Amino acid sequence: MRPRRPRPRTRHPNVRKASSPRTMEVRRQPRLATFAKPAPAGFVPPARLNGGTMTSGRRTPEGNRIVGGVPNSAHLSGRAVDYDGPNLPALLEQARRLPGVRKAFIHKGHVHTEGEGWNVPYYGARGTTGLKR
Ligand SMILES: [Zn+2]
Repeated sequence: MRPRRPRPRTRHPNVRKASSPRTMEVRRQPRLATFAKPAPAGFVPPARLNGGTMTSGRRTPEGNRIVGGVPNSAHLSGRAVDYDGPNLPALLEQARRLPGVRKAFIHKGHVHTEGEGWNVPYYGARGTTGLKR
């Protein structure tokens, strides 16, 4: 009987061919939870990262509808922030290093970022529609 040779592995098991850059980021998401530093309770993500600024923070339900957010958006509970800047992939790398980050991906021209234990302030012109200050 001939000894069986192991099949040559052509790709690392964690790396899959992505159909688009967006898909690639979505598939990486579960790995963020493994490596993110925990956030202190009530952590407020910075309004600026290297090369980008916050464009949307916590939203009112009305504002979330106006900006086209999903009905169960993490922006409603203050756990999500969007960043925009000239180099989205570089900004994404910054966002992925925030403490407590659970999701970060490029979506509709910005970096959507969610974290555990975050307390994102209300921010964004249309997303805060109806807010009583
Ligand atoms: Zn978002």
